[in-house]
Amino acid sequence: MAADKIYFIVGSQDLYGEECLKQVAADAKEMTAFLAKELKGLARIELLPTVITSETCIQDMRKAQCDDECVGVITWMHTFSPAKMWIKGLQELRKPLLHLHTQANEKLPYDKIDMDFMNLNQAAHGDREYGFILARMGIPHETAAGFYKNGRVVDKIRRFAGVAKAIACSHSLQIATFGNNMRDVAVTGGDKLESQIVYGWEVRYFGIGDLVDIVEKVTEREIDSQLKEYEAKYTMATDNVNAVREQAKYEAALKKFIKKNNIGAFTDTFQDLHGLRQLPGIAAQDLMGQGIGFGPEGDYKIAALSAILMKMAEGRKGATGFIEDYTYDLTAGEELELASHMLEVPVAFAAGKPEIQVHPLGIGGKEDPARLVFDGITGDGIQVTMVDMGDHFRIICADIELVKQPKPMPKLPVARIMFRHKPDFERGTAAWCEAGGAHHSVVSTALTREDIEAFSKYTGTEFIAIG
Ligand code: MN
Repeated sequence: MAADKIYFIVGSQDLYGEECLKQVAADAKEMTAFLAKELKGLARIELLPTVITSETCIQDMRKAQCDDECVGVITWMHTFSPAKMWIKGLQELRKPLLHLHTQANEKLPYDKIDMDFMNLNQAAHGDREYGFILARMGIPHETAAGFYKNGRVVDKIRRFAGVAKAIACSHSLQIATFGNNMRDVAVTGGDKLESQIVYGWEVRYFGIGDLVDIVEKVTEREIDSQLKEYEAKYTMATDNVNAVREQAKYEAALKKFIKKNNIGAFTDTFQDLHGLRQLPGIAAQDLMGQGIGFGPEGDYKIAALSAILMKMAEGRKGATGFIEDYTYDLTAGEELELASHMLEVPVAFAAGKPEIQVHPLGIGGKEDPARLVFDGITGDGIQVTMVDMGDHFRIICADIELVKQPKPMPKLPVARIMFRHKPDFERGTAAWCEAGGAHHSVVSTALTREDIEAFSKYTGTEFIAIG
């Protein structure tokens, strides 16, 4: 069952007669067909009965709310539609809402316009009445204004579809945490109960032993099969095949665990690896490449956010994934950030074919883990994080430009990306620090600030933009 359906609900009333309502229905059908074509592959659009009474509105909204395949609703007032009849219906809806402020006609027929035409096509009148009740009821929504075939309006509807799908993903997201947070670290913590109330995340604790039990039962054949997948996608740049097989074993086990428990994101921590010989490296990187969210050191918020933003970016060009802020080049006027992690850099960021390498891990006291090493992609992007401020969550979104690393880094044994802060290093990074931004984030060259702002609006999260 794909959660990708959006219901289109058109408002009118019965004062204008049967002929008018027939035309409203015909126009709505034509617009639905146009939008269905434009959103093909991204979302399905279905038309619900025209709202002409409070009862039809309640029925339409209940249908949208109760349909598990429906992720959101688009509304438009073809004629005037007295907004008191929208109140009870809107109270039934807890899914993302887009107000499409448009008309069936692009141009005004100056020489033919009469009172009938004006009564039939009065979004300027009806959509304002409707906009008032949304504002009066405090219902979070976005508004797309303009002729519905206009490219900018279609883009906004497409963005709405992506955000609505991501919010549906958020509400059904199960996050497994293997062990707890890295000891003494502040920013990776958070109120998991509040996370479930606000975002729907079910954060489920597992001991690392729960995973080790599955790891120990992985067969040699299953390891061979996973290793073949690695060899098909990546370049083997190590003689230590046993270390790579160990990671293949972890990934095979994690896949079974994820399937059995319906998990969409997970965390681990290098401080709690009892029974595992290595910290999961390639295993985590390769799973992120399959849309599974990941947060290191017990960071459940970033694990969830990465899964949700990967969902939001589906079907778009560009890469999206977890990253950690690491170190800077502070050459005046040419400042750059080097972002990476101990091992777990998402393969989506690879500029070329990743290499499988094995190196010692400086901390944790475990065996040398296999990991994917690569240089990062380039292009305009955003860096997004979420922090728990004690009485609310805050999302911070900074504009960045991913750049080619100025020189090779042959001794750095991990994958990496490099980026420039906007508007510049001084203001960009200072604003991030002052906003309480974490050192874990999700970087995306597929999503824009507007996507994150819309997600924040629909979830009632404080939003801070830097750029
Ligand atoms: Mn970290």
